[in-house]
Amino acid sequence: MKISRITLAALMAVYATGAMAQEQTLNIYSARHYPTDEALYTNFTKATGIKLNRVDADDAGILARLKAEGTASPADIILLVDASRLWRGEVDGLFQPIKSKLLEDAIPAQLRGKTAADGGTPWYGFSTRARVIVYDKVKVKKEDVDTYEELGDAKNKGKLCIRSGSHPYNLSLFGSVTEHLGDAAAEQWLKGMVDNMARAPKGGDTDQIKAVASGECGIAVTNSYYLARLMRSEAPADKAVVERVGVVFPNQASWGTHMNIAGGAVAKNSKNVANAVKFLEYLASPSAQEHFANGNNEWPTAKGVKSNNPALQAMGGGSFKSETIPISVVGMNQVKVQQMLDRVGFK
Ligand code: FE
Repeated sequence: MKISRITLAALMAVYATGAMAQEQTLNIYSARHYPTDEALYTNFTKATGIKLNRVDADDAGILARLKAEGTASPADIILLVDASRLWRGEVDGLFQPIKSKLLEDAIPAQLRGKTAADGGTPWYGFSTRARVIVYDKVKVKKEDVDTYEELGDAKNKGKLCIRSGSHPYNLSLFGSVTEHLGDAAAEQWLKGMVDNMARAPKGGDTDQIKAVASGECGIAVTNSYYLARLMRSEAPADKAVVERVGVVFPNQASWGTHMNIAGGAVAKNSKNVANAVKFLEYLASPSAQEHFANGNNEWPTAKGVKSNNPALQAMGGGSFKSETIPISVVGMNQVKVQQMLDRVGFK
């Protein structure tokens, strides 16, 4: 009798230790690739005592891993850097909808996943980035590149540099343009871009900006933060690049510049939901927004948090018109866009 009581007590102690250990750690699957994020994580641990284990992969890799792991997945938090991937995770049921008054109040409705009838929201956007056009100030006139449509116009033949069409940043942009132009015109536009390419797609966004500065191309497409990073760099080579290129926030006279989102969700099979929600709420706080958005030269999403980022101010501040297309539409157009890309030979 006595022995079994001790055994039970010992078992309970082990259980308590295990439960506590579990409560003190969150597993994050992150597609963010920004060194400035380190402070974001350490500040959370300092404030809460909750340790963060991070697994880094790209958006597609994370979604595939979550599917493969199923109910055995140790993931608590998912951080993705593309709107249509967030949408995909939502549609595939990989996120656990959460109810948080704080997040509902902080993050505008158009920058989160679809809230269900019971009030659960699958994901929240914590920063935005614009997909802008960069051009060679020496050879290209700004008015020839101030809309996305002109990227496919014959007047820009031989000038365009752009990363792979299948990259999520481009799939999201093309999905949005398809919504605005209609399928047939969008496919013509993609074909026009292929005809205008200065070289076959290769490299990331920064490589395209540098190729404009070197004179290899006249026009490039990039996420705003890659340009901002060069603008804030002290390296002479980067300064020379920035000196040579101009930037446009496209489609100011029509639907506005395409914005993408980086956001977060609680994983479907998380066993630490309360702490996971705590982490997402932390991301909406002014100090975390500073790191999450500003650290990577993005715009914060939380209401009342302003960007005072010098590069973003120089680039256009907050004074440009951004599109307001629903994320779900961009996501739903992805498959169609990929088929168009294959048909027009956009690698
Ligand atoms: Fe990126």
